[in-house]
Amino acid sequence: RSKAEGPGNATVFDSSMHDRVRERIELEAALRTALAEGQLNVVYQPIVRLESGRPVGAEALTRWNHPERGPIPPTTFIPIAEDAGLIGQLGTWVRTEGLRQLAQWRADGTVGPDFYLSVNVSPSQLRDETMPLTVSAELMRYGVPATAIALEMTESVMADDGVTARVLFELRELGMKLLVDDFGTGFSALGYLRQFPVTGVKIDRSFVSGLGENGEDEEIVRAVVAMGRALGLSIVAEGVETRVQRDALAAVGVTQGQGWLWGPGVPPEDFARHWSARLHLPGDARLGAGNP
Ligand code: C2E
Ligand code: MG
Ligand code: MG
Ligand code: MG
Repeated sequence: RSKAEGPGNATVFDSSMHDRVRERIELEAALRTALAEGQLNVVYQPIVRLESGRPVGAEALTRWNHPERGPIPPTTFIPIAEDAGLIGQLGTWVRTEGLRQLAQWRADGTVGPDFYLSVNVSPSQLRDETMPLTVSAELMRYGVPATAIALEMTESVMADDGVTARVLFELRELGMKLLVDDFGTGFSALGYLRQFPVTGVKIDRSFVSGLGENGEDEEIVRAVVAMGRALGLSIVAEGVETRVQRDALAAVGVTQGQGWLWGPGVPPEDFARHWSARLHLPGDARLGAGNP
């Protein structure tokens, strides 16, 4: 296209590419600073039981508020962190920040002992053989049992059956939940669900958005539920925005959901204020344990 339009456009193309490269380099430098100076934050989005709307856990999502540019979305800065070799540092930061917060919530009774914190991990973090030992030391340091932590990974990590497999088995051995994030958007071969010690899947929101309108999405979700049951996997539906979607999910047997219908990720103070009461509704004694 640029050829047909003449050399003038080629120059424009070059300079816009140049801008993008410069933008990238600037963001990478800014992200380094943000990590070093503590400009990153974690928000917590509830994962709820569909029928009651009660939280069973929360997903930790990283937020970056750039001092001049304002909020930069994770879909922009996570790939930069991965390319720049910063994802290990970022991943350790979000995990320890989440653990510290969970330990506090468990201690002050905001959440009960069965509440779990779900943290996203990037593929390269799982290719680090020292990760399981590091994580188990962190769990001890914060006094949080491994069963209260879930790690979310995309299907792409299962493409590596060497180091990643060993790391996943060790993490599972510790007792952590291992969830496949954005389930259904990666490769279609499902054999990895048997080869890796996965404990659950999060159905990608692209299959949830059409529920109630699109019969095919409903059939896909139904099939995931059947497969999950056969393999003993937990199932969470992501990106639930409407009651129609929630009801369609419940009708095909999905029990847990996450999405704007219940609420977005919020800072820890807001999470405690808004969700703690729901965590302690009468009728589920275990969730209330630890309260004075
Ligand atoms: P994800 O792990 O699949 O997280 C869910 C994303 O969907 C979040 O976007 C969340 O804010 C958004 N979401 C939640 N409910 C709804 C809904 O009802 N409708 C819609 N349209 N969206 C909803 P967010 O926070 O922008 O994060 C995007 C992605 O960035 C995450 O997708 C995850 O892959 C990655 N990410 C975020 N934080 C971290 C992190 O600390 N480490 C790593 N490795 N990745 C992270
Ligand atoms: Mg996730
Ligand atoms: Mg997800
Ligand atoms: Mg997703």
